[in-house]
Amino acid sequence: MTAFNTLPLKPALLASVETLGYTEMTPVQAQSLPPMLAGRDVIAQAQTGSGKTAAFGLSLLQSIDVDTIRLQALVLCPTRELADQVSKALRKLAANIPNVKLLTLCGGMPLGPQLASLSHDPHIVVGTPGRVQEHLKRGSLHGGGIKVLVLDEADRMLDMGFSEAIDDIIGRIAKHHQTLLFSATYPEEIRAVSQRVQTDPVVVTVDTPAEQKPAIEQQFIEVEPAQKLDALAQLLAGERGQHALVFCNMRKDVDAVAQELDRRGYSALALHGDMEQRDRDEVLVRFANKSCNVLVATDVAARGLDIAALPLVLCYDVAHDPDTHTHRIGRTGRAGETGLAITLCTPRERPKAANIEEAGGVPLSWRTLKVAPPRGKTLQLAPMKTLVIDAGRQDKLRPGDILGALTGDAGLDAKDIGKIDVFATRAYVAIGRALATKALERLRAGRIKGRNFRVRPLG
Ligand code: AMP
Repeated sequence: MTAFNTLPLKPALLASVETLGYTEMTPVQAQSLPPMLAGRDVIAQAQTGSGKTAAFGLSLLQSIDVDTIRLQALVLCPTRELADQVSKALRKLAANIPNVKLLTLCGGMPLGPQLASLSHDPHIVVGTPGRVQEHLKRGSLHGGGIKVLVLDEADRMLDMGFSEAIDDIIGRIAKHHQTLLFSATYPEEIRAVSQRVQTDPVVVTVDTPAEQKPAIEQQFIEVEPAQKLDALAQLLAGERGQHALVFCNMRKDVDAVAQELDRRGYSALALHGDMEQRDRDEVLVRFANKSCNVLVATDVAARGLDIAALPLVLCYDVAHDPDTHTHRIGRTGRAGETGLAITLCTPRERPKAANIEEAGGVPLSWRTLKVAPPRGKTLQLAPMKTLVIDAGRQDKLRPGDILGALTGDAGLDAKDIGKIDVFATRAYVAIGRALATKALERLRAGRIKGRNFRVRPLG
C-alpha cells in the first residue's frame, strides 16, 4: 500500500502529486507520512534524494488553513541554497491550493525587501535559523500561530553552530506545535535535540536497498605531502576532471589549491564559508554553467549545495571524521551514474583513513599513482565563459530577453549560449569560450530589451 491516495490528503495535494508524476511513495514517505498526518512528532533519518522534502511538504501543506492569514509552518534549513530548493519544491506541491503565501528568509540577503514582504503574514516560511531568529526578535515575524516546525538537515544545522538559534526560535513560537526533524546522520547530538524539542516522536529509519544506492567507486592514493598538488593536477587532467569538486580540510588550502590549479591552466574557483553571498553565488553560477570546471571547497561551503551529481570528487586531504567523508563522496555518483571519489592520503593521514575504513566496514581500495612533475601548462579550460549583465529581475529582465539580444542583432547561434541565471540585480549568461569576446562586444554595442546595461566578462 504505497499509493498516495491511501493517505488522508486534500484532493489539491493528491492532484499535485499526480502532476509531479509521483506514482508511489518512497520508503521515507511511506513510513513518515501516516504519523505526520496524524499529528505526531517524527524524527526521520533521510538523505537527499529520499523524497524527504515532499514528505514534510505534503504534511505541512495538509495542516495549513489558507483562510487564516497567519504564519502556520516554519521550515529551517542549514543553507540558503537548500532553503531555495525546499521553497521551490513546496511551491510545486502547493500549486493547486490557491493563495498560499510562502516566503523564503535567508541570511546574506538584504533585510529591507524581507521586511516589506512581511507586511502581511505568510502561511509558510522557509529559512535559515539566524535570519528567522532575527525576524522573530524584531517582531517582523510572528510565531504564535505556528502549527508545524520542520528542521531539515538537522545534523548540518548543528554542525554549522545553529543549535542556540534553533532553541531560541522554539522559545519564540507557539508552545504546541508539531516538530518534524529530518537528518542524514544520527549522531548523539541529534538524539539529544530530538529529546529536547520533540514529544514522543515516531522514529523513521530507512535502509536504502543496495540497488538504489548510488554507485560510487572509491580510491585512496598514498602520496607525500609535497606531491599532493602534482597528484591532484594529474588526476584532474583526466576526462572526469571536466567537472570536479575538490575538498580541502582548511580554508587557506582552498585558496592556495584553486590559485595553483588556475595557474596551471584549469578553470578552477575557490568556495569557502567566509565569502560574501554575492561572490558565492557567482562561483556557483560559474560552476553550474560550465565556465569553471574545478570547484575547490571546504566542507562547510559545500553543505547544502544544489549541484547535480559530479563525475569526480577529489579529497585533497582525508576528512577528519567518517561522516564528513561520506558527505564528500556522496557528491558523486547520483542519478544512476557511477561516480568516482579519490582521496589523497599522506602517511600522517593514515589513521584518519583507518577510521573511515572502520566506520564503513569495508576495506579501502588503495591504488598507486606515479606522480610526475608538470610538463608545461596543461590547458584544461572550461568550455564556457560567463558574462555578467548589471541588470536583473528588478529591471524585469528575463532569460528570454538575453537570449533574444544575443541571437537577434548580435547574430549568435542559440547552441553557443549556455545557462542563463537571472538574480534580482544581475544576470549571468554562459557563452561558448571561443565566442565570448564576440558576444561581449555585441551586447555592449546593442541593446537588451531596448536598454543599455553594463556587461562584463567574469574571470
Ligand atoms: P529530496 O529527497 O526531497 O531531495 O527529493 C529527491 C527527488 O525525488 C526530488 O526531485 C523529488 O521531486 C523526487 N520525489 C519525491 N517524492 C517522489 C516520489 N514519491 N516519486 C518519485 N519522485 C519523487
